[in-house]
Amino acid sequence: MSLRIAMLSIHSSPLGRMGTRDTGGMSVYLQELAREMGSRGHFVDIFTRATAKETEPVVKPFPNVRVVSLHVRGAEKAPKTALYDHAEAFAAAMTDFCRETAIEYDLIHSNYWLSGVVGSRFAMLHPCPHFITFHTLGAAKMTSRSGHTEDSRRVDVEAELAARCDGVIAPTAAERLRLISLCGARSETIHVVPCGVNLKRFAPDAGDDAPAEELRKDPGRAVLLGVGRFDPMKGIQRLLAGVACLNAAGAAVDLVLVGGDGPGSPEHRRVRRQVRGLGMDERVRIVGSVDHRKMPSYYRGADAVGVASRYESFGLVVLEALACGTPVVSTPVGVAPEVIRPGVNGYLAAAGDAESLAQTIARTLRLARERDPLQIHATVSEFDWSRVASLLLDAYRKSIDPTHRHKMGKHREPAI
Ligand code: UDP
Repeated sequence: MSLRIAMLSIHSSPLGRMGTRDTGGMSVYLQELAREMGSRGHFVDIFTRATAKETEPVVKPFPNVRVVSLHVRGAEKAPKTALYDHAEAFAAAMTDFCRETAIEYDLIHSNYWLSGVVGSRFAMLHPCPHFITFHTLGAAKMTSRSGHTEDSRRVDVEAELAARCDGVIAPTAAERLRLISLCGARSETIHVVPCGVNLKRFAPDAGDDAPAEELRKDPGRAVLLGVGRFDPMKGIQRLLAGVACLNAAGAAVDLVLVGGDGPGSPEHRRVRRQVRGLGMDERVRIVGSVDHRKMPSYYRGADAVGVASRYESFGLVVLEALACGTPVVSTPVGVAPEVIRPGVNGYLAAAGDAESLAQTIARTLRLARERDPLQIHATVSEFDWSRVASLLLDAYRKSIDPTHRHKMGKHREPAI
């Protein structure tokens, strides 16, 4: 049976520029899953907000997949969390789209808490199972000691959604436990479905892309690569301190950072100040945001990839680097403890001081010299998006089952 699925990604378009403030792993997740489902004959509409008057209302990036940009007055330029106040209007705009295109969905899959609010309003008007992937949890971010402050409504709304949605997708077993302990999610509605990686593009030998030029300026120096949005949660300062420590001890290591909103942004300026403060101007290169299709040439060209995040719900960067055959040094966040096999494809660094991170980076760089990229690639072979899509579709089907549909009635009260 082919399904009609409404995916919601209200605050961030899956077609946005990768590595910038609100466009990261979630966009990859939506694109890859939608493409995979579309190729199997399912119909996927991804709803997002229009960010300008000229935003094309409907774009068809892959067969059977549409990205629908909803024009909601006042929401185009609104800060992310202000979208909460427009939830009703977004649900109404979705309803208009359904009427105009004569479509009814079998399932709604919201992504991130703000989409969850819109999804639950829409589900009241169009009863069908409502799934959610939170991507990150406000309560977990607040306990991560990154100085993160959160919209006061987020934690309560996530708890409400976790309790009421028909399906909650947890990307790791650890996140499943957090969903239960921090959000009160019901274990019977949680499905552990990981995120994935495109193993054809992210491979040691895929295509004939040369390693990205910005990576290696001096062949005598090792290159550690950091990838991601410039968010304090990502622990960029820890990476900087670890690499500074290594160089102070006589090692020859450069750090290359991919991601961020560009030189004018406050986050970029903050990282620059940290680099200068550590006397690392010569040792750190900030590349800026890179198209996701070009990422393999960065991973392949680096000696190792460093992840020093304080919290990740999953962490696609770890998978992508390993799929490209490059060892990873990571704090024990997201999928890292599940996939990193010490001495085979990288090392876990105790989340702690710069000295111990420096030692673990050094071990990973030693491992990099003896690495067999194909062997490292094989350690993530189970994470292909096609398998992930199958797991997700299995979870969907359990809820679309008519007997379950009958049981759903009790969750239709408006609460959020
Ligand atoms: N990414 C990218 N270009 C950049 C920076 C990041 O394509 O300049 C991609 C990266 O390859 C990965 C995603 O953004 O697919 C980041 O996902 P992750 O789960 O590690 O972090 P999140 O952004 O979800 O917190």
